[in-house]
Amino acid sequence: MSRPILETKNLWVKVGENDIIQNLNFKLNPGVHILLGPNGAGKSTLLGSIMGLERFKITGEILWKGENITNLSPDKRFQKGIFLAYQLPPVVRGVRLKDVLKKILNINQKKNLPEEVYQYLKDLDLDESFLDREINQGFSGGERKKSEILQVLLAKPELALLDEPDSGVDIDALKSIGKAIQKISKECNLLIVSHNLKVLDYVKPNSVLVLIDGKYIYTDGTEIIHIIEERGYDFLRRKMYVEKLSLGN
Ligand code: ADP
Ligand code: MG
Repeated sequence: MSRPILETKNLWVKVGENDIIQNLNFKLNPGVHILLGPNGAGKSTLLGSIMGLERFKITGEILWKGENITNLSPDKRFQKGIFLAYQLPPVVRGVRLKDVLKKILNINQKKNLPEEVYQYLKDLDLDESFLDREINQGFSGGERKKSEILQVLLAKPELALLDEPDSGVDIDALKSIGKAIQKISKECNLLIVSHNLKVLDYVKPNSVLVLIDGKYIYTDGTEIIHIIEERGYDFLRRKMYVEKLSLGN
């Protein structure tokens, strides 16, 4: 078995007064992985904690390829090769999409964007005028998701965390986002939160992880997705306690 690229040790995450994740020992191997779990299970919290977002108060450790990154800023984690595409991409007033893309590409703000940006915009069916707009300001749900995916395409991170990249998007957007994710999966390790099984038309995950009751179930292959689809999380929860499912911690 390959060495995990990412690991959490006794990860405890508080949001305000609430303990959202309690003592999670999580391991992620290289490859493509789907992360599932009922609403409120803490999937976005886990991804945000891995990225180091400030609102999550963390104890325990987060290791990136064996290095303790628990106290690093999101920016430093980005430089190490981790990128988070948000479930709810925030509006950032005064910052244009092209400013963010230049920062990602590490090019001077005065310089022009490279040709590949315009190709990706076409692939994602996003008009070039988006580049001059404040990031996510007035973007539709689908446009926000596309702008996140555009950033991932350009960042080419070693690990992309995609938080529901396909939620709230129409059928055409789903197709272009799906194709973009397929492209990303060839270059990056991926952890994708998705409730939309359409994503499986575009990527073949190595494993599925299910976050449930503060633990996670690890399975090779995607069979568990169909069990969840047919029987729901409650079934899985019961099964988890009586049968030997591969519990991560
Ligand atoms: P998921 O992504 O699995 O649906 P989240 O990580 O978004 O779950 O949320 C996990 C839990 O944390 C939920 O019960 C949610 O209500 C709670 N939570 C998230 N953000 C906050 C917040 N800012 N204040 C209080 N509770 C929060
Ligand atoms: Mg979420």
